[in-house]
Amino acid sequence: MRVSQLLIPTLRETPAEAEVVSHQLMVRAGFIRKAAAGIYTYLPLATRVIQKISRIVREEMDAKGGQEVLLPIVQPAELWKETGRWDVYGDEMFRLRDRHQREFCLGPTHEEITTDLVRGEIRSYKQLPLLLYQIQNKYRDERRPRFGLMRGREFIMKDLYSFDRDEAGAQESYRKMYDAYTRVFTRCGLTFRPVLADAGAIGGSGGTHEFMVLAESGEAAVVYCSECDYAANVERAECSPKPAAATERPSETALVSTPGSKTIESLIRFLKTSAEQLIKTLVYQADERVVMVLVRGDREVNEIKLGNFLGGPLKLELASSEVVEALCGCETGYVGPVGVTVEILADAEVPLMVNAITGANKTGHHLTGVNPGRDFTIDRVADLRTVEAGEPCPKCGQPLLAARGIEVGQVFNLGTKYSKAMDAKYLDENGKEKLMVMGCYGIGVTRTMAAAIEQNHDADGIKWPMPIAPFQVIVVPVSVKDQAVAEAAEKLYQELQALGVEAVIDDRDERPGVKFKDADLIGYPLRVTVGAKTLQEGKVEIKSRHSGEVELIPAGEAAAYLQRIIDLSI
Ligand code: ATP
Ligand code: MG
Repeated sequence: MRVSQLLIPTLRETPAEAEVVSHQLMVRAGFIRKAAAGIYTYLPLATRVIQKISRIVREEMDAKGGQEVLLPIVQPAELWKETGRWDVYGDEMFRLRDRHQREFCLGPTHEEITTDLVRGEIRSYKQLPLLLYQIQNKYRDERRPRFGLMRGREFIMKDLYSFDRDEAGAQESYRKMYDAYTRVFTRCGLTFRPVLADAGAIGGSGGTHEFMVLAESGEAAVVYCSECDYAANVERAECSPKPAAATERPSETALVSTPGSKTIESLIRFLKTSAEQLIKTLVYQADERVVMVLVRGDREVNEIKLGNFLGGPLKLELASSEVVEALCGCETGYVGPVGVTVEILADAEVPLMVNAITGANKTGHHLTGVNPGRDFTIDRVADLRTVEAGEPCPKCGQPLLAARGIEVGQVFNLGTKYSKAMDAKYLDENGKEKLMVMGCYGIGVTRTMAAAIEQNHDADGIKWPMPIAPFQVIVVPVSVKDQAVAEAAEKLYQELQALGVEAVIDDRDERPGVKFKDADLIGYPLRVTVGAKTLQEGKVEIKSRHSGEVELIPAGEAAAYLQRIIDLSI
């Protein structure tokens, strides 16, 4: 293709509303334009990247026996009511009515519609396992659609649904998809890690992994072991309780005046103690009920674990100051577990504490010398805190390391949650009816494109991994007015085309500086510069966008040379 003809409207300015690099660069480099918040038009370059990622995904799904289908985007409410998710989904679901006032939604996901299809068409165990997938738009009215393609309201997802005879079969499908996902992201040229994850609202009894593209800007925090293969989202990572360091004897409880010490930090300064000595007390409202949650002062409550422990899904939030006041008779900063009548949940480290400091349920006061069990009763103990880097790996005990990631895919073992709700059964070898065991597996195609940029860019622009670059090579004639240069560039461009290399030629009558800036911004992995000076020696300059390395190659050998580099990197 010729740059003069391609629709690549690059911009010099960074769009003010774009907060993340991938969003800024995709707008500046002419990949996307906004239609509405979280809804974008994909221009030719973005469309090429989407097609490349989709092709890799399709090949890997097909290799595992996946069958491609296209399911409706507009879905009837009745199916969602069967599983109860019409109500659970809340504001994230785009809802609409037809002319007869019948209710529909724009599919945020497709478990219901797929299960409906399969229960109607599958009769016998001989037809299982069945793996159906599609690559298509999804609709989620996200609360904060401000990260460009990272969190769109309309986005492209590959979703696959597996139907098996039993749990063993479902696990086999899960293993296949885990393997396929590993291959997909490897083939996309991304640095990623599969991590244990929380099952969240989609539910199901089995396990789940998220595939994280590692990047500083990632929304998710993950930990992984320095020695073994353990890796988990911090939402999910198990914590081992660290015993209190000193073996003190329990002392007397004392009420101390701590004016203005509402925060952990100010209290530590005031009492000249350490955060480990404090019991952090939080009052939560979980749907209608109120619970008190205790963790050590240097720890954070993990609301995902807490929600699961309370039997989620539920609406979990810190209780209002009115609720706290009514329960404890004091301001939020001074609450504690001694003498209150409310269910008390404690993280596993709390019962190990000796002579702890807690709020006294009296504004401006704390209690010292507090000993769990003696001074207050814990109703239930559980792992309720968030793991930190440096803590021991739950599998092998070596220190955990921290990283940030972008969730580009997730695999779920759903068990019989949906088949039960929707009565999706088959007849086994003995003619007995059995529930199908399901799995669901998503890859965010457009988010993967954004994640690739978050992971691969510099101050000048995008550095596409070769396998998903919109084009592999750009040929830049330094001046199109210099006939020898223009002809040599055109010849090289034709040779590349003939070899099947995906090349563009920047045939615009622009200064070389402008062309180089655009090439760096768009992120073509390889740039060939054809200039009068090097051409006198019969050479062209090849520059790698990733390494910045520059080589001079005889013009006649350049096409074959580029093809070799490309073959080695896809
Ligand atoms: P998140 O927690 O980031 O909102 P999710 O866990 O709800 O995502 P899934 O239901 O697991 O998402 O969807 C499968 C994949 O679809 C995700 O791994 C992600 O890559 C992609 N995805 C989900 N929501 C969005 C979105 N709003 N915009 C772009 N891609 C998305
Ligand atoms: Mg997910």
